[in-house]
Amino acid sequence: MFSFLSNFFAKKGIDCFAPIPLADCSVVRPYLLERAGISDGTAILFAVPYFSSDSTLPRNLSAYSVPRDYHAYFKSLFEELLPQLRERFPQYRFAGFSDHSPIAEIEAACRAGLGVLGKNHLLITKRYASYVFLGEIITDARLECVSQPIGYCSDCGACQAACPMTTHGGVCLSALTQKKGELTDGEIAYLREYSSVWGCDICQEVCPHTKQALKDKTIFSPIPYFSENTIPYLTKEILDAMPDEEFETRAYAWRTRAVISRNLDLLEMNDREEEHEDA
Ligand code: SF4
Ligand code: SF4
Repeated sequence: MFSFLSNFFAKKGIDCFAPIPLADCSVVRPYLLERAGISDGTAILFAVPYFSSDSTLPRNLSAYSVPRDYHAYFKSLFEELLPQLRERFPQYRFAGFSDHSPIAEIEAACRAGLGVLGKNHLLITKRYASYVFLGEIITDARLECVSQPIGYCSDCGACQAACPMTTHGGVCLSALTQKKGELTDGEIAYLREYSSVWGCDICQEVCPHTKQALKDKTIFSPIPYFSENTIPYLTKEILDAMPDEEFETRAYAWRTRAVISRNLDLLEMNDREEEHEDA
C-alpha cells in the first residue's frame, strides 16, 4: 500500500509524506473518524507545497491565497486517490482529510517526521519551509511505521519579534483582514500600515528556514495548480471585474466579497491620500 501511495504522490509532485500509527495522533474531531468507520490504523501525513514564483512578486495577499483555493485542490486529489485505494485494497477503509481533520495535523506531521514545529506554530519542512498545506489519508490498515519525537525550530525568535500583534494590542493582522463590518480608526491605520488585503505572512517571511528555502530555490511548488490562475496583487478593478463563479474559487471567498472590497477601498484610499501628499 505504501509503495502505491508513493507512486501516486510522486506523480502529483508530493515528495513529503510519511505514515504514523493513528494511536499516536491526538484526535481532535472524533466524530470524523466515527463517520469514516475507523477507530484504529494508520495516518499517512503529506505536505502539499504551494509557494509559486508569483508569490515573490509584489502582493497584498497572503501567499496561500495567491493561487485558487486549496480546498478545491484537496477535493479533487481525494476524489482521484480514494476510489483507487478502495479498489486496490477492498478489505480496508480509507478517508482523506485536510484542514478539517479528525487529528491535530501539525503535531501528527511532526511525529511523522515531515518537519519540525516552529515557534510560529507552523510545520517547517526542509524543502518548502512552512509554505505547505497538510493532508492525510486515514485507514484502518496497520502499516508498519513508528512515530518520532517532535523536533523544534532553531528558536531564533525572529517570528515573535516581527509579529505586529505585539505593537497592536494583541490583534492579529490576519484576523483583522477577515473581520466583518466597519473597522475602527485604529484598525484602519493598522491595515494601512501593512497594506494587506488578506492574511499575514510576516512570521513566515522572517523565518530563517524560509530564507534558506528561498535562497536554495527549493521553496517553489512543483504542483501546477498552485502556479495557475494566480492573483498576487488584488485591486478593486480586478475584484469588480471578477464574476461570482471566479470569486468563489479564491481562498478568501468564504469571508464574502464585501470584506475584501472594504479592505481594498481602505487601502486604495490610503494610496490616493499618499499620492496627494507627495504631489
Ligand atoms: S499572522 Fe501576522 S499578526 Fe498574526 S500572529 Fe502571525 S505574524 Fe502575527
Ligand atoms: S523565525 Fe525563528 S523562532 Fe520563529 S519559527 Fe522560524 S526559526 Fe523558529
